[in-house]
Amino acid sequence: MRASATGRTLHDPKGGSFWFDAGAVCLDFAHTGGEGRYAVFETLHEPADLGEWLAEPPLAAVMTVPVTARELSAAKALRQAIWDVAHAQAARRALPAGAVATINRAAAAAPLVPELVPKPGREFVAGGTTAGWVPPVRATQALSTLAREMIELLSGPLAERFRECASDDCPLVFVDSSRPGARRWCAMERCGNRHKLRAHRARRSTEPDGG
Ligand SMILES: [Zn+2]
Repeated sequence: MRASATGRTLHDPKGGSFWFDAGAVCLDFAHTGGEGRYAVFETLHEPADLGEWLAEPPLAAVMTVPVTARELSAAKALRQAIWDVAHAQAARRALPAGAVATINRAAAAAPLVPELVPKPGREFVAGGTTAGWVPPVRATQALSTLAREMIELLSGPLAERFRECASDDCPLVFVDSSRPGARRWCAMERCGNRHKLRAHRARRSTEPDGG
């Protein structure tokens, strides 16, 4: 997986959309919907929706076996587990045991198997090679790959870089993989700019002439 190619467009059910890069594929996946008050953000309604999400880069896992209803519910359980663990990690709380068990269970399945293949319409010439996944490609394998990525993140150098958006009313969570490690916002165009605007207004209202 190419870490630099993470990120997805998120849609607000009330309208509008913005680009959000959670810094890892498994964390992007954690933002595909949710339970309870996050159910309005659900994007994985049918098994085929999961297949479409997985088929997009950077994972680019085009299912050769149709996603089953069972895999969809497993995916949603894994998604919730990644969400819960990411928030606990960002808040420096103990990781919820049930969620950790769900991630470990998903990771125990065989993951996607990479293979070198010629780019479409080309032979194995210089620059003509790309990475693909050995068929059959199943959703259960892709979920294992996502769970393993989460395990790597939590046990690697980026474990201290899990963060929730610094905006008070924004629950989006990401891993800051930038070199300076100073990322605060889910997206500059969303919470970052809102914060700048508020700070600007606050400054103006404290100026002697009232702004
Ligand atoms: Zn935010």
